[in-house]
Amino acid sequence: MNLTPGNRPSIEAVYIHIPFCIKKCHYCDFVSYPLAGLPVEEYCDAVIAEAALYAAHADSIQGGIKSIYIGGGTPTSIPAEYLMKMLDQVQDCFPLARNGEITVECNPKTVDGAYFSKLKRGGVNRLSIGAQAFQDQLLQRMGRIHLPQDIGNAVHEAQQCGIENINLDLIYGLPGQTLDQWKGSLNAAVQLHVPHIAAYGLKLGEDSFWGKQYQKGLLQVPDEDASADMFELAMDILAASGYRQYEISNFAWPGYFSVHNRVYWNNGTYLGLGVAASSHWQHLRQTNQAALKRYLQEVQEGKFPVGESEIVDFDTALGETIFLGLRLLEGLNIHEFEKRFGVKINKKYQKQLEKLIALDLIACSEDQIKLTRKGIFLANEVFMEFLP
Ligand code: SF4
Repeated sequence: MNLTPGNRPSIEAVYIHIPFCIKKCHYCDFVSYPLAGLPVEEYCDAVIAEAALYAAHADSIQGGIKSIYIGGGTPTSIPAEYLMKMLDQVQDCFPLARNGEITVECNPKTVDGAYFSKLKRGGVNRLSIGAQAFQDQLLQRMGRIHLPQDIGNAVHEAQQCGIENINLDLIYGLPGQTLDQWKGSLNAAVQLHVPHIAAYGLKLGEDSFWGKQYQKGLLQVPDEDASADMFELAMDILAASGYRQYEISNFAWPGYFSVHNRVYWNNGTYLGLGVAASSHWQHLRQTNQAALKRYLQEVQEGKFPVGESEIVDFDTALGETIFLGLRLLEGLNIHEFEKRFGVKINKKYQKQLEKLIALDLIACSEDQIKLTRKGIFLANEVFMEFLP
């Protein structure tokens, strides 16, 4: 651990991982377990104890942390009271700034008005709902537990409870998904009048059910061109519907950009609590134990439950800050970068910048470096250039 007196990291945001789901979706290899029979309350107490461990060695940034994000897994698969107790006590350790953002990820099948009311009373002011698709057939194929109508019901219940800052997650590039179905999902999401929509290309986790089928040649997914067409359709439909694409996969009305994710894209400092949660501060990036039993045991013994820890050297920090910053479509601010690292970006990365400009993948002004429209589609090729 890199936590010593006099070396107290200043934390900008806290992530809490809830590794429970009702059942596993076919594409998913996130660290999450089917809920039945697992020690949920014990886990929540361990997260609180972990927060207290860190509070003895780290501070919130001045004015309080910017955001708390409860993700998973399916946080709403467990009683709202448990989430609220965690939120309360984590804030005792890391107070939230006035107007700070508190997001909870939801599965539409696991929530109702009563559940949202409890979240709202506990201070939750943003929801991220895993819609994924609006076609029954696709949802069933993915192994999702919800129906298309559950998505609209969840959104309406949340809005009625006074939580209007809502994100809907959608996935394109699904096996068997047509461009028309994708268009239908985008339009359905827009019609729900939510201020934020995230459109992600399918990522087949290697250890997921679909990932294994794909490796054996038993599953077909849309090819790169078809996926790129779907992504382009999302960009067009959402722009025409008043959403600004402020990050490669994230679209929002003005004023509704995710505060929490921005800490990640700015390569800021955050503390991850819970199984497999990641943290980043100063020159350290670490990930917690992924096994539930081991995580619980280490926290109960008063140890930091860290599984992997990596020192981030200076060149890696520069590269990461560039490619994370380039995810934001406004681009990377050259002056802020130079102030933060004392490095002239145009000089240090002259070769890479010239190459990417010639390929029409990035555009540079005096103040900003940003992806071009072509660069948005080929972002990974751009990011590779900045890896040390
Ligand atoms: S995709 Fe979400 S709901 Fe499905 S198993 Fe993974 S974490 Fe759980």
